[in-house]
Amino acid sequence: MDRMDLLSALVDKGLRREPPTRAEALAVLATSDDDLLEVVAAAGRVRRAWFGRRVKLNYLVNLKSGLCPEDCSYCSQRLGSKAEILTYTWLKPDAAVAAANAGVAGGARRVCLVASGRGPTDRDVERVCETVSALRAEHGTAVEVCACLGLLSDGQAERLRAAGANAYNHNLNTSQAAYADICTTHDFTDRAETVRRARAGGLSPCSGLIAGMGESDEDLVDVAFALRELEVDSVPVNFLIPFDGTPLAGRWELTPQRALRILAMVRFVCQDAEVRIAGGRELHLRTLQPLALHIANSLFLGDYLTSEGQSGRADLAMIADAGFEVEGGTVPAGPPEPDADADAGGGEPAGAAVPVAVRRRGAGTTLPPNA
Ligand code: SF4
Repeated sequence: MDRMDLLSALVDKGLRREPPTRAEALAVLATSDDDLLEVVAAAGRVRRAWFGRRVKLNYLVNLKSGLCPEDCSYCSQRLGSKAEILTYTWLKPDAAVAAANAGVAGGARRVCLVASGRGPTDRDVERVCETVSALRAEHGTAVEVCACLGLLSDGQAERLRAAGANAYNHNLNTSQAAYADICTTHDFTDRAETVRRARAGGLSPCSGLIAGMGESDEDLVDVAFALRELEVDSVPVNFLIPFDGTPLAGRWELTPQRALRILAMVRFVCQDAEVRIAGGRELHLRTLQPLALHIANSLFLGDYLTSEGQSGRADLAMIADAGFEVEGGTVPAGPPEPDADADAGGGEPAGAAVPVAVRRRGAGTTLPPNA
């Protein structure tokens, strides 16, 4: 099948929500840089059919940072991590709500409450429920609340739902075949089971992947199809942030073009899911970030869990400049601050390593958050 036949078949299927074949998904990843704009345009047709020109903004609040007993090799919070990240235990509900409110004021319509660890105790769930209830009381239904606390035990999803949580995030990260290469303390089936528990407990399942960890095209396609099979509502696509002090330090295997092809493949497989440009976009998409908005319909505003993103104002300006609109937004888009692009990785040649800025502001610090 030639490239134009491939893309028109993928668009037709995308509009009908008919799954592509595995071969078609692999073929998207194998397209050349010469074909990049055609791939983006085709994925853009599917994106616009389901989501118009809307961009959903999500805001991360790291409730508990570092000191995790698990050994996920990509994670700056893992057992034995030497990454010089902020480490702190549970934020008090008022501090968590204050951090979340900064994101909401910046335009976010979903707040993601995240804690490091293998999974929450029932006491931890109660603690998070206090924050969820406080956010629900303050914002009603104008803001969605997602929890991301690790592997769930029986009844925990239901308790979060009863407190007012809308969604639960637990990423599959990579294929079942490659999972043992990135973690030995839990496995792929543990993660998939938590996604199922979240759905069964009444929470909207959010689950995604990380690209750039040494996986093959087959692994990326397998994890995308696994996410489709789990019927997840939102799919964060992360690009590895190779923190110094972790086993994957120094791994820079993505180009901006490949990052776009990966997003397009995910869009063609999970056609009507919220595809979210997640961690690492500034480092890997760099100056091609606006093109990714034609494929994905969602991103994280501001900072990540343990690293800093470009400024929230630069995010809003990028969305407006690219001709998209913030979902539910009343936030006026203005020009970015003069130094807003300084931390976006702009201007670096493709494939170059750019420094990872460890987060030093927002939750767990006395400095204001980036939103
Ligand atoms: S379980 Fe979560 S916080 Fe812990 S090492 Fe793995 S990804 Fe990091």
